[in-house]
Amino acid sequence: MKIILALRFTALTIIMLVSQPLVAADRFADVTIKTQQVGENVYMLQGAGGNIGVTSGADGTLIIDDQFAPLAGRIENALKALGGDRPRIVLNTHYHGDHVGGNAEFGRTGVIIAHDNVRARLLSQDQLSDSALPLVTFADSVTIHFNGDELALIHLPQGHTDGDIMVWFKQANVLHMGDQLFNGAFPYIDMRSGGSIDGYISNLRQVIRDMPNDITIIPGHGPLADMTAVAHCLKVIEDTRRIVVDGIEAGKDDAAIAADLSDYTDWAQGFIRMNRWIGIVRADHAQRGALE
Ligand SMILES: [Zn+2]
Repeated sequence: MKIILALRFTALTIIMLVSQPLVAADRFADVTIKTQQVGENVYMLQGAGGNIGVTSGADGTLIIDDQFAPLAGRIENALKALGGDRPRIVLNTHYHGDHVGGNAEFGRTGVIIAHDNVRARLLSQDQLSDSALPLVTFADSVTIHFNGDELALIHLPQGHTDGDIMVWFKQANVLHMGDQLFNGAFPYIDMRSGGSIDGYISNLRQVIRDMPNDITIIPGHGPLADMTAVAHCLKVIEDTRRIVVDGIEAGKDDAAIAADLSDYTDWAQGFIRMNRWIGIVRADHAQRGALE
């Protein structure tokens, strides 16, 4: 009996070991890259992972974020389909894997630019090839003059992570916000990497205060956005946070708090489900308590 069980266990283990890499490889098999024009010379590419911003013209091709490594070939094909080429410049809005996975490939021929903390966080990861690292880093802001436009790279501190930037195409009137905007969904806030809800909220307020009201916005995730969508996301974050904190202080468990959030189930359809959002607010609340 013991031998049979052991054999079964071994067989199961072998099946699991064999099938797991196949499942992982398959994850991107059906992903296609969709291209949408968002302004003069500016495009959004959507496949899997964070939305990619593109400008392509006389100075060459510049991309903002590059999704996952297995998609690099498909991304390159999409760039060529709109008249571009392999990127001369790659901007990383932050260091998360669904935004920088193509770095190793595109960094072989292009210059990667990111916030100082992106390079520092990528350096601490194992098995990262040198070509995946940003060659140019900065602390607060940088201006890039490219394809007749002026791109302002602006650091958004301590929100989604501690190394996020947004990219403002001043002529095209387009803003790529990276994961400082999950359009129509609860945001992921990476507190282990220096993020916080207060920071996330103050960054959204900064965008609303400082950016043109008629600007077109590429979010990190979700469909194309505008300033109304940013204001809506801000309000949902503030309102749901208040509900969760009230629930915590009343001693409610997650199920009871989730019931209090029943008006917001549409916002829990994406990467951050309701329990995860409640967990983020709980962790943030505990951290704030520890700081006070
Ligand atoms: Zn992210």
